[in-house]
Amino acid sequence: MTITDLSSGLRNRLLFTSVALAMVVSTIFIYVAFNLSQDLGESLELDHNEHLLQALSQHIQDEISSVDTKNVNLSENINADLVRHLDLDIVGAEIWFNNQHIKLKVDDSYNKQVDLVAAVNSKKTAQGTITKDDTRLFWSYHTSPVGKYSILLVRKTHALDKALALAKNRLSITAFLTFWLLVWAALILSALVTKRFEQGNARLHYLATHDVLTGLGNRAYLYQYAQHYFSAEQVNKHKEHHTLLALYVIDLDKFKDINDTMGHLTGDELLKTIADRLNKVQQWPVKVIRFGGDEFVVWCDGINEQQAVALAEEIVHLCRQPIDINGYVFETSVSVGFSFYPTSGLRLDTLLKNADIAMYQAKKHRLGFQVFQQELFSRSEFRVNLRGQLNKALMQRQFILHYQPKVLLPDKNMIGVEALVRWQHPKEGLLMPQVFIDLIEQSMFVHEFTRYVLQQAICQCRCWLDSGIEMPIAVNISPYNLMDPKLVSYLSEMLIHYQVPPHMLELELTENASMVNIDKTIEVFGKLRALGVKLAIDDFGTGMSSLAYIKQLDVDYIKIDRSFIVDLVTDQRDEAVMVSMFVLCQKLGKLIVAEGVETIEQETKLKSLGCNIVQGYLYSRPISAQDVVKGIYKQQMEPRYVR
Ligand code: C2E
Ligand code: CA
Ligand code: CA
Repeated sequence: MTITDLSSGLRNRLLFTSVALAMVVSTIFIYVAFNLSQDLGESLELDHNEHLLQALSQHIQDEISSVDTKNVNLSENINADLVRHLDLDIVGAEIWFNNQHIKLKVDDSYNKQVDLVAAVNSKKTAQGTITKDDTRLFWSYHTSPVGKYSILLVRKTHALDKALALAKNRLSITAFLTFWLLVWAALILSALVTKRFEQGNARLHYLATHDVLTGLGNRAYLYQYAQHYFSAEQVNKHKEHHTLLALYVIDLDKFKDINDTMGHLTGDELLKTIADRLNKVQQWPVKVIRFGGDEFVVWCDGINEQQAVALAEEIVHLCRQPIDINGYVFETSVSVGFSFYPTSGLRLDTLLKNADIAMYQAKKHRLGFQVFQQELFSRSEFRVNLRGQLNKALMQRQFILHYQPKVLLPDKNMIGVEALVRWQHPKEGLLMPQVFIDLIEQSMFVHEFTRYVLQQAICQCRCWLDSGIEMPIAVNISPYNLMDPKLVSYLSEMLIHYQVPPHMLELELTENASMVNIDKTIEVFGKLRALGVKLAIDDFGTGMSSLAYIKQLDVDYIKIDRSFIVDLVTDQRDEAVMVSMFVLCQKLGKLIVAEGVETIEQETKLKSLGCNIVQGYLYSRPISAQDVVKGIYKQQMEPRYVR
């Protein structure tokens, strides 16, 4: 039921009730007023009767006192003229005196009313009205204590009937006018009430379907809009025009980091700016919805695939422009995924889910935007299945560690290894961390998983130590692990349990992750350092944090991300970046590790830049623990590394 239906229903009900009320009020008014006039009229008539009776009684009294009461024949002395003289409307006058019954006047309209006689007989003094054949008669009966006579006076009246007819007439007109006045008032009242109701409802509806911060439609709005849109009519329209509806899911990159570090007010400003920008999309008329948090949906109808791609480009471009909030300039970016109706789904849920899958793909590979393709869905379904198997995999110890050597130039001696996890899946075979590590990080098993890896690595270190190999192991730590209150104590317990010197363990945290909450990172790093373990910043150069933060972190190594090494030889800009990074690290007193070294040229370049610790396929891929040992012996490692 829509708001309009509701309000028109309410209006009808109000109107009906008001008219009914008006009718009842008018009827009561007529009834009361008419009865009041009638009662008043009757009372006046009876009063008049009483006066006449008194006059007649006085006359009879005089007659009786002037004659011999025993022998007097009253009928001779009192005649009908007297009665007529008193009042023309008298229709009956009877006197009872000393066994005489004198009928002074008996008109047709009176003519011995049986009822009246009965009424009179029951009382000694009385008065009242009686209606017979539409004639209203007023009677008064009086028994005098002096002279012992009784008089019955009966009178009809035209005045009252006329007055009542007049009152009835006037009252009807008044009632009629009152009725219409009330109806009119009811109409106005119901219109006013309905209007207020509609206004209130419209406000409520707006609040329920719009986002307060940005003023954009919200999730509820989108669903309502889609419900209307996917009606048969619209579906046919698409078939006729061979056009598509494109649904874009837009997610802000690193919004959480900005919110956490700069505060929610800045986050809100950022969201408002993005909302404004999305509303200013030029290429096509669009509908922008804030779907929740930092996620927006753009709805664009009647578009083809090329136009949809151009629109995605425009969205990415618009949102990439720096945003100035209170003097701080933010470099923002968004990841956009989109799907088409009817080709990628027929229902809103499906379209959103598919656009979401595409958006995650865009985010993961930093593509900016990605259109939904069926194979993405299969991959995402595969990941959903994996997510459901995480707990079992942990319980059954399906996660194993491979180790990638870190070597020291120029001799290329192995000075340590980085533990890299693999999932020995019973059905899918050996799965690489890219496939599942983010699933773990988003799951409730993230702490349990890291403790498991740490325990495995420390245990391996013990094994090697027992074989006379002193091989430091680096373990990757997820940013979420910094929030684990038991991380430090667990690590300490394990090191004691396996009797492994703390400096044999190194923890790698990605630069971006370590910047999420700098205070927390400093706090945890301080505790880890106190424990004696080595610390490294991983993937340095990829994050969006300020270099100033790096200074505050007490770490031993900085691992330069592979993306800087790839084009080091060919791209002079990469070389320039590397040089400045080396200068910075040297100034801060940190050791540099270059990751992803694949070629001799890269090695030579790194050497020339003063970087001696390297890691990459050029030296070794990640290998099993047994292969590490084989490698050590094959390499005839320096005594420093073998006891
Ligand atoms: P990462 O820490 O940057 O690890 C280095 C990755 O680069 C490894 O991929 C390694 O195999 C690869 N790599 C090393 N040298 C080369 C090279 O010369 N060329 C190329 N193309 N690649 C090279 P891997 O093992 O697939 O690990 C990927 C990421 O998964 C790791 O990146 C790390 O962030 C994460 N990861 C691995 N194990 C763990 C773990 O136990 N815990 C956590 N939290 N993350 C882990
Ligand atoms: Ca690493
Ligand atoms: Ca790395």
